[in-house]
Parts: sequence; structure tokens; C-alpha cells
Amino acid sequence: MKKLIVSLCIISCGISAATAQTIHPLKQWNTTQILGGDWKQLEQRDMQFVRSLDADRLLYFFRERVGTPQPNGCKPYGGWESTDLKGHTLGHYLTTLSLYYLQSGDQEAKTRIDHVVNTLRETQTKSGSGYISAFSEELLNRVEKDGSGWAPYYTLHKILQGLVDAYRYAGNKTALTAASEMGNYIYGRTTKLTDKDLWVRNLDIQEVGGIAEALLNLYQITGREEHLKAGQFFQQMDKLLPSAEGQDILDDNRTSNFYHANTTIPQFIAAEREYELTGDRTMLQSAVNFWKNVTQHRAYCNGSTGYHEHWNLRPDLLGQELDGQAGETCCTNNLIKLSNDLFRFFRQPQYAEYVERATLNHIMGSMNPENANFMYFHTQLPGSFKTYGRNTDVFWCCTGTGMENHVRYGQSVFFSDADTLYVCQFFPARLNWTDKNMTMEQTTGFPSEESAQIRITKGGSRAVLKIRISSWCEGFEVTSTNKGIRCEQKDGFCVLSGRWKQGDVINISLPMRLRLEPLADQPHTVALCYGPFVLAADLGTEGVTDDRVNVTDNYFNGVPQYMHPDTPVPTLTGSMDDLHWMHKTEGKLEFTTTATHDGRLLRFIPLYQAIGIRFADYLTFKK
Ligand SMILES: [Zn+2]
Repeated sequence: MKKLIVSLCIISCGISAATAQTIHPLKQWNTTQILGGDWKQLEQRDMQFVRSLDADRLLYFFRERVGTPQPNGCKPYGGWESTDLKGHTLGHYLTTLSLYYLQSGDQEAKTRIDHVVNTLRETQTKSGSGYISAFSEELLNRVEKDGSGWAPYYTLHKILQGLVDAYRYAGNKTALTAASEMGNYIYGRTTKLTDKDLWVRNLDIQEVGGIAEALLNLYQITGREEHLKAGQFFQQMDKLLPSAEGQDILDDNRTSNFYHANTTIPQFIAAEREYELTGDRTMLQSAVNFWKNVTQHRAYCNGSTGYHEHWNLRPDLLGQELDGQAGETCCTNNLIKLSNDLFRFFRQPQYAEYVERATLNHIMGSMNPENANFMYFHTQLPGSFKTYGRNTDVFWCCTGTGMENHVRYGQSVFFSDADTLYVCQFFPARLNWTDKNMTMEQTTGFPSEESAQIRITKGGSRAVLKIRISSWCEGFEVTSTNKGIRCEQKDGFCVLSGRWKQGDVINISLPMRLRLEPLADQPHTVALCYGPFVLAADLGTEGVTDDRVNVTDNYFNGVPQYMHPDTPVPTLTGSMDDLHWMHKTEGKLEFTTTATHDGRLLRFIPLYQAIGIRFADYLTFKK
């Protein structure tokens, strides 16, 4: 109780020296296995795609750079893998396989990890400097000189993080050696950058993204001062310090990239990590304030953020940005990471609730289940449709993070300290709580059922379970077959304390209701939500063809005309106070209504399932 009061104070009052010392991070259970439902299907479809990739093709330019012969007939991939950004996919590939191996023990994944790590290590040894990359060091020289060039440090972040993950998730020691030498190499470069003013200016221009995070993650393992210093060198203090002081700097247009969303979010993940490793409370406060400014004032109903990859406007003006180039998927991936990190410290349901919103409404719809193509922008243009890149033609940033997204579901479900397990998400999942010698399984019929169950399948121990009470839930109820243990609601959790034994079942009732979420700047334009699910109005398939859904350019240069609907998007005529005009279909998550300006029957389905159809997740009421 004391800790939680402290945490609440941190959010609203700033962090004092005395309180910050009491914050200990929760353990995040990366080993959690997803058991069923759409989550499992998406994970398996994703892994099918990952297995279809030829690691040697992804390694092509790494070998070429150091003059190593290619395997017979090997050719590089195209798309962004044949541009200055070449190599970024390999980092995501390593991270995805490593996390999947940790969860599943899949030996084929391990074989692929070992092959990639060994090859990268060979190229590193051959180059002799510690540098591992698919592109030449000339790109780094250019960026460091005047900020020109396309984001080489972004790509190095992915490679370094992939190696760190191959060590920490898959136990590959060669990966740690390679990562450590790469960290030394980057540190060496930073010591030569003595013109600090130039560097600060270049940081504003470059998309350095999360290189600081990867270096700090490396430092967490190696404890080498060089890796810490290198990570800190990439921290963009002209964002972090104002944020720590409570300033909202997200619409600051001082340079073309200063307000770039997918550059900025990882910088605050790194800030949180820096606090974790050094105790620098300013860094934690900057991340807390940033999270609030993004998720509560610049996030769409599905948790996504950014418009044309940037934050362009003052807060709470999303009504001006309902267009086809909204919420980049990489940004949601990173916001989920940041939210889970902040939950580990503050144990506040708001962070887990953001993860739920973003996962159920953006991430789960960000892969086309027919072909495992991944989404770049999540459209917010009413009447348009979702588009996905033909993966091996594009190899976007969002192709890389897209691969990771669907093996990450398990990471958000369970967190623990010595005696307490936090159940944050109601995804079907299995946890081996090794600290307590206890295995448990959570099942749920989401989205068609409004309940979840947790069963102790093996072992038993005295422990506290804290189950998140969702703000969207009215009538939340938990019962246990263990008669000695009852639910006590406290601080946003149902607290169940006692001695658990094999066979105990916890039944969680999660009644959902329909509600409106109006835009702050356009109160008559709303998202319709049912429980944690955003609903999408099904607007038919006119002009929605396979080649328009599965694209190769994702309209970076403007939203094509065919994205716009031929007929106007219906206006709602029902009451905003009483939603009785929405009729639920028995037995599934679907609603219908004829309360539209032209009497047209509208069908609503979960937004994440709105694939291959025109839809609107924001609709306007007739005034
Ligand atoms: Zn992206």
C-alpha cells in the first residue's frame, strides 16, 4: 500500500529523492506462452513468415561488406533491404526468433539464431574494428559530420538489440561477445565527436531512434562503463529535460525530425532504462510525462499515434488528423514497450490498460492473416481500408517491428515481485512462475465471451495475485474455488492472498458495455467501444482489391483517391446519451443499427478484424 501511494505521488507531484529509492521494478515474464485464440493464430502465422525468410539473403550485404563469399546463388532481398537501411530486418529477425525460442523451446529457431550470430561474428572478426553492419562506415561519417544520410544508427540499434536478445533470450554467448565489441566500437566513435553543438544539431536531424536503449540494455548485462557512456551520448537532452520539467515538446518543429514519433518514443524508453541502471530520477520523470502527453492527448482510439509519422499539432486536436497516414505501427510497438516498462515501476493499471487498448485494436489488426503482410500506417480516414506491405518487396521498418509484434503478446500478461503476481492482460496464456514453483493457465473466450479463468495447473504456494480491474468494466467480479481466498479490491486491482494449490480456479467476470469516446476537439465525432474493443462500422468492399490492400508503396507520397469511399460515410442519428439504438448480435461481438441519416443498416465488428473492407472507427453524430 505504501509503495502504491508513493507511485501515485510520483505521477502527479514529481519524484522526490526519498520516494524514488523505494521503487523496485517488477519482473516481466518474457517466458509466457500464448495458448489460443486470435493471439495464437497471429503468432503462428507470423512465425510461418519468419521461417520463410532466407537468413543468408538477409546476411548478404554483411558478408559483401567484408568480402566474404556468398552461399551459392544467394541474392539480397529488395525493398528497404537494398537501400541505406539495409540490415535492419536481420536485427528484428534475431529478436523475434530469440523471444520465440525462449517461449517455445523451438530448436529450429535456435539453429537459425546460431547461424546468424556465427556469421555476424565472422564478419566482425574479419573487419577487425568491432563494427557489424550491412553498410559501410562512410554512412556513419556522413551522419556525424552534417546529419545527412538515412538513419544508420537506427539500423545499428536493431542489429545490436538483436544480438543482445540472442544472448538474453536464447543464451547465445557469441552474440554477447559480438554485441560487446560492437558497443565498444560505437563508444570509440562517440569519443571522437568533440563538437557537442554539432552533435546536438545532428541528433535533431537524424533518426537515431533507440540506439541509446540498445546500448543501455547491453550495459545492463556487461556492466562496462563504455557501454553506459555510449548510450548516454545518444540521449537527446533537449527533449528529455523539458519533458522532465513537465513541458509538452511534442509539437516542436525546430527541425524536420525533432517531433518525429518513432524517433522520439525509443528515446524515452532509453530514459526509463537509464533511470533503472543509474537511478537518475530526471530520466524517469521525463518518461512518465512523455507517456502522458502521447497516450492521453495524442493517441487515436486504437492506441496508435502520429500523423505522417510526426506530432504536428498541439494536444487534443486529433479531429484534424483523421487521414490515411495515421498511427505508424512501429510507434505502437514502442509505446507498448514503454508502457510495460513504466508498469514495472509504478504498478499502475493505466499503463496496462494502454497496452490492452493498443494490442487489441491496433497490433492484432496490423498483420494480414492471409499472407502475414504487415501494416505501416493504421488509417483513420473514415471509409478507407487497411493496407499492408508485400513484406519481401518492401522490408519497411514496420515489417521488422511487425515480425516482433506477434511473438510479444505474452510479455504483457504477467509481472511479479517476490510474493505477488500481477495479471495485467486477459490473453490466453501459460505462466511457469518458477519463483513459486507454480504453473498456471489463463483462458478466455475474448472477444465473444466476457470472462477469463485462471487455473493453477501445477504446484502450489502462498502468494498474492493481483488481477487488473479494467476501467471499461462495470460489475467486475472475481471468485475462487479456493474457499479460503477472497477478492479485495484495492488500487485498481483485485487482490487475492492465500495458499494456492493445484486445481484451484479463479473465475474473472468482465462485463462489457457500449460507450462513446468523443474526440476532444470534435465532441460529435466518436469512437464506439465495447469493453476494451474499438468497433468498426463495416462499409463494404467497393474498390477494395487485393493489390490495393497488399501494396508496395503504402502511399508515402499522399493518400490515393481510391482510398476515399465513393459514397459518404453515414452519419449517426441515435442519441449520444442512450445507446439503445445499437443492437448486439447474440453470441458474438457484433452490433447493428439503422440509426443512420439514410436509414442504412450498419454492422459493427471489432476494429482489429476489419480487414479487406472499408470501415470507419470514428463516426459523426448528426447535430
Ligand atoms: Zn515503422
